[in-house]
Amino acid sequence: MSKDYRVLLYYKYVAIENPEAFRDEHLAFCKSLNLKGRILVSEEGLNGTLSGTIAETQQYMDAMHEDPRFADMMFKIDEADGHAFKKMFVRYRPEIVSLNLEDDVDPNKVTGKYLEPNEFREAILDEDTIVIDARNDYEYDLGHFRGAVRPDIRNFRDLPQWIKDNKEKFMDKKVVTYCTGGIRCEKFSGWLLKEGFEDVGQLHGGIHRYGTDPEVQGDLWDGKMYVFDERISVPINRKEHVVIGKDWFDGTPCERYVNCADPTCNRQFLTSEENEYKYMRSCSHECRISPENRYVKEHHLSREEVAERLTAIGEKLPETVE
Ligand SMILES: [Zn+2]
Repeated sequence: MSKDYRVLLYYKYVAIENPEAFRDEHLAFCKSLNLKGRILVSEEGLNGTLSGTIAETQQYMDAMHEDPRFADMMFKIDEADGHAFKKMFVRYRPEIVSLNLEDDVDPNKVTGKYLEPNEFREAILDEDTIVIDARNDYEYDLGHFRGAVRPDIRNFRDLPQWIKDNKEKFMDKKVVTYCTGGIRCEKFSGWLLKEGFEDVGQLHGGIHRYGTDPEVQGDLWDGKMYVFDERISVPINRKEHVVIGKDWFDGTPCERYVNCADPTCNRQFLTSEENEYKYMRSCSHECRISPENRYVKEHHLSREEVAERLTAIGEKLPETVE
């Protein structure tokens, strides 16, 4: 059954003069097409994800391809039942992905070898190749390529430091990297080359394209792929589905993401509906007893009810000073 909506994912490293003016025009253009989503604009290029009807998204892609700067921009397309975003944003940023580099990398000058999905599949089957996941830890935890290294970082921008700290493990190996749509690897793989790694490849078009490639069909991917829109995750491996996500509280297989109910924490974690109830959608005791706890507010839980839930999991409310 074909669906009426599409979600687009795309980027292009290309010089954009006067990005603020571009931003204003582009926002008006997207709104005129009823599109919703998030686009970042910078002197170094464009990074976007949008949702809209098939006709609207087609019009957008056609218009972009008429602009010589974006004539060869690759769009990764998902079918969807409706919009994947609530609003339309176009924002200026100094970089379209932030990697915290002292010496910025221009991927048009230095970047890893582009590997097409079938070449990437072959590369990761090679025992002498290190596969590095160039995403955040919570993305890895929901799904990743079999055998891929999980950098121990909460945020992508900390990746270069992590590599420096673990360099001796990878230095004499072939390295391949991957990320959601390919944009993070453009700079990251270029940075690896500048750091002295000799054989560096990157998955062209990212996991997304790998999952839709008719030949590889997402083979060797376990779990689901985290996406930065209301869908939260999408399937990749069309040959088999192995659940690797684990419930935050009891470690049972789980692919359901929630945000911690304590707004100052807001950590994303996997948990079942049952445990969400038990632990009041909070990742820790501190978060559960936070006066700002959104779960407690949403469910209008009285102090007694909160105390009851805490007792059930062996915790209690702190003594209050009267
Ligand atoms: Zn928390």
